[in-house]
Amino acid sequence: MSWELASILFIYGLVVGSFLNVCIYRLPREKSIVRPGSGCPGCGYRLAWYDNIPLLSWVWLRGRCRRCQQAIGWVYPLVELTTALLALQVGYQFGLTWSSLLIALLGCAFLVLMMIDFYHYILPDIITLPGIVLGLLVAALPISEPPLATLEAALWGAGLGGGGLWLFAYLFEKITGKVGMGMGDIKLLAMIGAWLGWQSLPLTLFLAGLLGSVVGIIWMVVAHRDRSQQIPFGPYLVLGAWVHLCCGPEIYRWYFS
Ligand SMILES: [Zn+2]
Repeated sequence: MSWELASILFIYGLVVGSFLNVCIYRLPREKSIVRPGSGCPGCGYRLAWYDNIPLLSWVWLRGRCRRCQQAIGWVYPLVELTTALLALQVGYQFGLTWSSLLIALLGCAFLVLMMIDFYHYILPDIITLPGIVLGLLVAALPISEPPLATLEAALWGAGLGGGGLWLFAYLFEKITGKVGMGMGDIKLLAMIGAWLGWQSLPLTLFLAGLLGSVVGIIWMVVAHRDRSQQIPFGPYLVLGAWVHLCCGPEIYRWYFS
């Protein structure tokens, strides 16, 4: 990929990332993501265009509001940077195709879901439910190529992802008497299955469980949190699905060889 193209993808990613920040902040608060324009959460100062340049404004203002000097979290530029890197990765790995655009869209939805679950312990229906439908529609499109699922695999994926995890959660609750998984996780896995097919589910769940356990143990040791504390599972499902999307076939080949 030429550096011109890479720069364009990177800048597009930053701009989209800036919009994702708006979604991450406003969706769980049930506010419109269109209006009003971005403002300081502290004093309500409406950002001028030069305060709203992804990454650069934050660095230029040293992470503070221009008017009230309230700190603006480093998560904002981090999300912008992550989205830019995501655009680069998808373009580099899958080329500039319609499929890539859809994969990038899925990546954006994943990032928003991950951040919202991390902060609020919810995976909003407003993303997961249309996400399931869109995944199935995409699978039916002729432009959809691997790693996006075929229609058959997508239907199985949504059914098994949603139904299978629901059954697992139901049995877990019956046996242990504890709520192991939220409905949000179940809808997210159905969405993952709809986009990436049923083949993605074992690796996604395995990696999510592994990552979740490792981080959970580190969290308990470092932060002295007890085990009963709620840990969002959505971020791990998303990461597991992304690893499958990027190198699932390689991992399976390595494992079975
Ligand atoms: Zn302010």
